[in-house]
Amino acid sequence: MPLLRLKKKQKITEEQIAAIVGKENVDSSSSERLVYSYDATPNYQSLPDFVAAPGNAEEVAALLKLCNETGTPVYSRGSGTNLCADTCPVHGGVVLLTKRLNRILELDKENLTITVQPGVITKEISDTVEKEGLFYPPDPSSMKISTIGGNLSENSGGLRGLKYGVTRDYVMALQVALPDGELIRTGGKLTKDVAGYDLTRLFVGSEGTLGVITEATLKLIPKPESQKTILALYQDIEAAARSVSAIIADKMIPVTLEFIDQDTLKAVEDFAHIGLPTDVQAILLIVQDGPKEIVDRDIHRIAEICRSKQAVDVRLAASEQEAEQLATARRSALSALARLKPTTILEDATVPRSEIAPMVRAITEIARKYNVRISTFGHAGDGNLHPTCLTDARDHDEMQRVEKAFAEIFEKALELGGTLTGEHGIGMTKAPYLEWKLGKAGVAVMRGIKQALDPSGIMNPGKVFAEAASEREANVK
Ligand SMILES: Cc1cc2nc3c(=O)[nH]c(=O)nc-3n(C[C@H](O)[C@H](O)[C@H](O)COP(=O)(O)OP(=O)(O)OC[C@H]3O[C@@H](n4cnc5c(N)ncnc54)[C@H](O)[C@@H]3O)c2cc1C
Repeated sequence: MPLLRLKKKQKITEEQIAAIVGKENVDSSSSERLVYSYDATPNYQSLPDFVAAPGNAEEVAALLKLCNETGTPVYSRGSGTNLCADTCPVHGGVVLLTKRLNRILELDKENLTITVQPGVITKEISDTVEKEGLFYPPDPSSMKISTIGGNLSENSGGLRGLKYGVTRDYVMALQVALPDGELIRTGGKLTKDVAGYDLTRLFVGSEGTLGVITEATLKLIPKPESQKTILALYQDIEAAARSVSAIIADKMIPVTLEFIDQDTLKAVEDFAHIGLPTDVQAILLIVQDGPKEIVDRDIHRIAEICRSKQAVDVRLAASEQEAEQLATARRSALSALARLKPTTILEDATVPRSEIAPMVRAITEIARKYNVRISTFGHAGDGNLHPTCLTDARDHDEMQRVEKAFAEIFEKALELGGTLTGEHGIGMTKAPYLEWKLGKAGVAVMRGIKQALDPSGIMNPGKVFAEAASEREANVK
């Protein structure tokens, strides 16, 4: 199938956009265009022509229709915290902000759902439902700033993914504006619904390339009654990795099973000052929740397993406050590392959890081979590691080595039965490698879907689909 190309652009004017969203909600000043020329991904920047903030679903739909008719690219943007250059406006056009679509529309306690607009901040959803004894488990570390629209479009995960799954697992219904200006609804407040293709899941994780999510109904569960946190300390990184597999193999599914290496520990302690041990090679941060007796039993058993796998110490968080401090410290890992060097590149190669030990070993060897500094932390229980390279984009020679190192890390993850990205998305950074994972035929199916929904190619062009795949045999099993 040929590459999707944008139709020839007709000039779109600020007045045309203002007629839809109001003149105070469109901006083409150089300062505003600069603000939205990049996101949290280092080294990607490109200016949009306009920045527009529609105030309701109908305005979103009308704006898409105008852009579709004129062949103008549209980049939906929540808080811009994605790490794969997904909101970078590489082909110019309109950055569509969801900041005015920021209302919680309904909390339905009978059906255990919450219905929200896409610009609502993730933590606001958690805080709102927890006041009612309910629970929305997906908790990306960026939850204090990320929007639910961004979470849905990247299918974000978090620290609680091991037991509770990711954003996709909590989406029941969506309203989506399509490029031709149609508004459609998918799913409903239904536990069972097999009417037609699962369009809800199609839009989840589609990285803004198919339409704009204008409303979402999310599933809630009862808030767990208690929780406990332990830290297991290791002088041998692989012993920590082996503990992860051993805990799961013992038929226990903790809420959180996070791995943090020494480099990351030192950076986080320097940042958070909460007394983390920095003289060990790695720690596991483990949380279990549920009824008190079960939590006590699991935590006791997990501590035993860690000791049997050469943990040099196992510490129980003394209070809820200490447990929260530890979780917050882990969530700050990227920010803490980012202070150390001018450029921080964080990836999220993911392997089956039984392969964590070989993957951690491979990352260390690859970093040594290319003489680059890579720290590793991540959601070890999900097999989702975040090898994070601390570098300097101005050093071209080093950047080339960094690129080669990451290509080799992706290759290793695929060889171990894993994937290129567990939660951050493909965007621009991993587009050249997508074919390694899906094969030519898999990518062609995706192109067919894109063509059907967005024939003019206006939705987030330049993302997910690479102009040319990176050279290598596709690893389709
Ligand atoms: C410090 C830090 C920690 C992080 N921790 C995690 C983590 O633990 N887990 C994790 O999974 N990610 C994490 N991330 C990545 C990022 O926060 C997530 O991908 C998040 O979901 C992005 O939300 P956002 O509102 O910033 O979206 P944006 O970055 O603005 O957009 C992300 C994508 O969603 C699309 N989009 C946004 N809104 C809509 C909409 N309404 N309709 C259609 N498409 C839309 C955009 O076009 C883009 O493709 C982290 C990032 C940082 C900087």
